[in-house]
Amino acid sequence: MQEPQQLQIFKFGGASVKDAAAIRNLSSIVRAHGQPGPLLVVVSAMGKTTNALEAIYQLAHTGQEYTPQLALLRDFHLGVATELGVSDEAAGTPALAELLEQLHDRLATLLPGDFDKQYDQVVSFGELLATRIVARALQAQWLDCRPLIRTDHTWREGRVDWATTERNLRATLPGQLQHGPIVTQGFLGGTAGGHTTTLGREGSDYTAAILAYCLGAASVTIWKDVAGLLNADPKFFADTVRYPEISYQETIEMAYYGASVIHPKTIKPLAVRGIPLLVKSFVDPTAEGTRIHDCRHGLLVPAFIRKTGQCLISFESKDLTFISEENLEVIFGALAQVRLKIHLMQNSAISFSVCTDFSAYRLEKLLSALREQFTIHYNTGLELYTIKNYDAASIQRLTDSRELLLEQRSRQTFQFVCRGGVNEFVK
Ligand code: ASP
Ligand code: MG
Repeated sequence: MQEPQQLQIFKFGGASVKDAAAIRNLSSIVRAHGQPGPLLVVVSAMGKTTNALEAIYQLAHTGQEYTPQLALLRDFHLGVATELGVSDEAAGTPALAELLEQLHDRLATLLPGDFDKQYDQVVSFGELLATRIVARALQAQWLDCRPLIRTDHTWREGRVDWATTERNLRATLPGQLQHGPIVTQGFLGGTAGGHTTTLGREGSDYTAAILAYCLGAASVTIWKDVAGLLNADPKFFADTVRYPEISYQETIEMAYYGASVIHPKTIKPLAVRGIPLLVKSFVDPTAEGTRIHDCRHGLLVPAFIRKTGQCLISFESKDLTFISEENLEVIFGALAQVRLKIHLMQNSAISFSVCTDFSAYRLEKLLSALREQFTIHYNTGLELYTIKNYDAASIQRLTDSRELLLEQRSRQTFQFVCRGGVNEFVK
């Protein structure tokens, strides 16, 4: 077996392929920054296509009219292909028109039930269409990743079978990469039975990491609309700072607390094989960006992470006895049962509180499971802020104008829950 020694993997998300101009920019990045060695390009669905496909699928599955939305989606893709002047003919590659036809047929033949399974068979077309266009624009090879990236049947969150995937990829890609760059889909996988799976929303970063891990890539570069890994989301915070380099560990923790810049599952496979992850700007491709790798650094600038749509639930024992291990076991069991993830928790003598994402459906199920045993109060419409590597000034900056419903501090992390709704820009 041949090891593609200097393999580079580039990942381009929806924003970097949102229209013909964006795809031209992608082509110039690949020309200027894809070194002469082997290059694998992972592409997400164009712009907001995945959301559009979700909406179309929802309509189709509930027996409602979806043809106008589907026509828009088709015209959009055909329009971009025409604007780029890419031909629809290429050996071994399905034509764009053929893919659109397949999507049309899938929607027309949905069966009742099996919502999540059929979701994957439909929503996956976003990546299939995008890669078809980008591969032609780059005059690169188009690769269907679904027979190679093997997952189980966990629809919409496929779990990777690493051994099979590694074997598949190593048997196929090194040879193909010798013939020039390859473009493949992010976000997709396939079951042993040949059904399509998806890896969870925003999962294309994870695909790049899976490919890098299995093929022993030299690096992964994620091209984004921001200058690199920043200490806060510039949509909500003023004066953001870029980390020039940062460790895998720090990045995993930030993703865990809800920083949305990189899909949380991405880092581990790269860390295991020591593959550096570069986050760079597709707007300013020569700028330095961020290097995520095995490094030691001194004190980092505090990171601000904001999670919206939170809910604070508190449980009191009805007989005013202490919250005991037995009570906690019941509460944790019920939370796991309804699949509510705890983002923060706090215990006092007679009450126990958790902060979770708000889901009316899951909360209702939780209440009916525990109402008999506990008095339960909850608040919705909340926000959870995490300051990682905090100092006094960073705490003051966020807490000054807010009423804190719950707060918690560890050596490196300060977190609090407060009322949301005010979408103000934090100065
Ligand atoms: N297109 C998919 C999504 O929007 C995957 C991705 O963008 O990473 O969720
Ligand atoms: Mg996306």
